[in-house]
Amino acid sequence: MSEKKISRRSFVKGFAASFVSLAGLGVLNACGNNSGSTPAVSTAEDASTAAASAAATEAAIGAANEAAKAAGLTFTPGTYEATAKGISSDVKVTMTFDETSITDVKVDTSGETPDIGGKISDSVAQMILDGQTADIDAISGATVTSEAVKKAAADCISQASGQQISLSEDSASTGSDWLGTKPEIADGDLTETIDTKLLICGLGTGGWAAALTAADTGIETLVIEKKETPTNIREDIGGIDSKWQKETIKTMPNLAIDKMDALEDIVRYGTGYVDYNLIKVWTNESGELVDWIGGILEDSGKYFMQHEASVGDTRYPERDKAYATGHSPHKTEEYAEDSEVTTSSVFTEYCEKAGNVKFKFSTAIVELIQDGSGKVTGVIAQDMTDNHYIKINAENVLMATGGYATNTDMMNALQPMTQEMKVQCRIGSTADGSGIKAMLWAGGKMDPIHESMMFNRCAVKPDETAGYKTTGEWFWFGEQPFLKVNLKGERFCNESGPYEFMLHSMEMQPGHTYCDIFDANNKEYTEQFQEVGCCRLWPFDNDAISNRDYDSCWASNEDLIEKGYIIKADTLEELAEGLNIPVDTFVETVERYNELCKKGKDEDYGKAPHRLTPVDTAPFYGVRTVAWHLTTLDGIRINTNMQVIDENGDPIEGLYATGDCSGGFFANNYPNLFTGLACGRTMTFARHAVNFISGK
Ligand SMILES: Cc1cc2nc3c(=O)[nH]c(=O)nc-3n(C[C@H](O)[C@H](O)[C@H](O)COP(=O)(O)OP(=O)(O)OC[C@H]3O[C@@H](n4cnc5c(N)ncnc54)[C@H](O)[C@@H]3O)c2cc1C
Repeated sequence: MSEKKISRRSFVKGFAASFVSLAGLGVLNACGNNSGSTPAVSTAEDASTAAASAAATEAAIGAANEAAKAAGLTFTPGTYEATAKGISSDVKVTMTFDETSITDVKVDTSGETPDIGGKISDSVAQMILDGQTADIDAISGATVTSEAVKKAAADCISQASGQQISLSEDSASTGSDWLGTKPEIADGDLTETIDTKLLICGLGTGGWAAALTAADTGIETLVIEKKETPTNIREDIGGIDSKWQKETIKTMPNLAIDKMDALEDIVRYGTGYVDYNLIKVWTNESGELVDWIGGILEDSGKYFMQHEASVGDTRYPERDKAYATGHSPHKTEEYAEDSEVTTSSVFTEYCEKAGNVKFKFSTAIVELIQDGSGKVTGVIAQDMTDNHYIKINAENVLMATGGYATNTDMMNALQPMTQEMKVQCRIGSTADGSGIKAMLWAGGKMDPIHESMMFNRCAVKPDETAGYKTTGEWFWFGEQPFLKVNLKGERFCNESGPYEFMLHSMEMQPGHTYCDIFDANNKEYTEQFQEVGCCRLWPFDNDAISNRDYDSCWASNEDLIEKGYIIKADTLEELAEGLNIPVDTFVETVERYNELCKKGKDEDYGKAPHRLTPVDTAPFYGVRTVAWHLTTLDGIRINTNMQVIDENGDPIEGLYATGDCSGGFFANNYPNLFTGLACGRTMTFARHAVNFISGK
């Protein structure tokens, strides 16, 4: 097969004029009717619209024929099928061709996340048919599934044309116009109006803390969430001076946290690009937050709280200094296996009992409404099921819409280095930056430093490297401070420390990818490492349960061996060959590392002695490791009452923000050695904002 690039710039160029006129006739918006079948006609007006529509489709295909000819493509008529890996399934595309055009497209994304990638089948099928190309725009919020559809569609076109079609590189967005202009929605398009005192946008970690606080204060509240269901709060909630922490400190006084130390360390992590006073809100109010939300969960009888009491081996604090801030909710024995019981189900019951908090799902904020003085007086939202617009008048609006991890345009423009380090993965934030954009259109100011929370816990195959178009697999073990070598087989950093320290060192290495190396004794080493937070695979010092234990991790590793991600070998040479890295250099690296382990002193990079563990007992294991993108952490600047501020630092009346869509707290990296800091900050700020709005 010869290679042919197909892109909208080349293939579709030929019928750009008809593309525009078809849009006018509504053909491009005919999502949900991708099969080319004629819609039911019930009136004369419908009949004439349907006739126009059919004529338009024919016109599109006619124009496509011309374009295909211009691109030098002809097809062997027939129906072709291809699959590509999406988030959680193989996405299937079936395409029918005549000699010069695509005549039918069917897409099956039913195995993808139900209310995200799972529901884009019809719209992307229509986009491929209308554009006569595989190179369609990714659907915002469902980029991984969209990319899989594009790959499978390109495969079908390759089969039909006998030419190797690759998606054009220039279709990768540079994201330069990621903000765009505020959408203009005519008053006549607002077909529903709702009034409320407090509107909370987004029902994830921050949205829940806000809604529950509103339930307590009694303020009339509406919560809108773009998905069909809420997002559960996460496993670890960070706080200082909770009642659980105070209890453990009675017997482990070394775990006491000095608030000024904590403040200074968070500032140091952020290299000063933070707001001291905001951080103080967390250090001062997070203990009360944990007591309150933990109390709601425990009072339900379905959850119990545990303080994660450990700071690791404190003899080597330089780079590994940890704070025992983590608190985790766990299900009680009675409900452990009940999948219906979630933190969201407990919180829903709590709000229902209070009666003043209402929820509206499948509803997304599109933009904020402001009066002549700039005060926010509500929002325009869109119903995601039928696309109608809703005007929501609100005295105050709290944004809790999360970050922008799934918005490829924003990521390419603001965090190109993260795009190089990360891969596409199944679990991550669902937030798409729409809330941040709405606040920028309203005059908000964004953080100057753009950064992300990333796990170094993602495996790629031995012939793959990092990059946002690669698909990876969870590799929870990746955080363990085993030997790590670059793709030249050389050691390059101290493998211990916060997640992003290693990832940032990796960004400087070829392919932005490294290999984790461990041996048959790995189990005892993971205990010896004394990891903290969600990296810990063994019970905490107070016997609190870890998020994951060694045995469950090893079971996942066995699966990764089976799938060809982790290489298992009897010799170091064989391991290097399996990982596609230079054998001689790798063997020399391991020998040097083992020598340092024997000395108990890392003369090369300064890793703490209890984390210097040799690689000397077969079988040997190795895996290419890259970044797993969890969420973005830069957002819209707020003051200490969580009011959104403008360029001058003045509050925009009526507008508040919390969580990943808000800023001023993190820069350059995520200080994960403060376990649960992101959720702790998000919830503390949400609670503070609603108390402030409610006059409490
Ligand atoms: C897998 C994973 C594990 C994590 N574990 C931890 C942990 O244990 N501890 C910790 O501290 N941090 C953790 N984090 C980070 C943490 O989840 C976030 O920093 C924090 O939850 C942010 O909360 P949020 O409310 O801002 O956003 P989210 O919890 O992401 O909630 C945002 C909500 O807004 C909705 N939304 C988005 N746009 C719109 C719109 N236009 N209209 C309406 N709704 C909208 C989204 O669908 C979502 O439900 C983890 C992140 C991930 C991805």
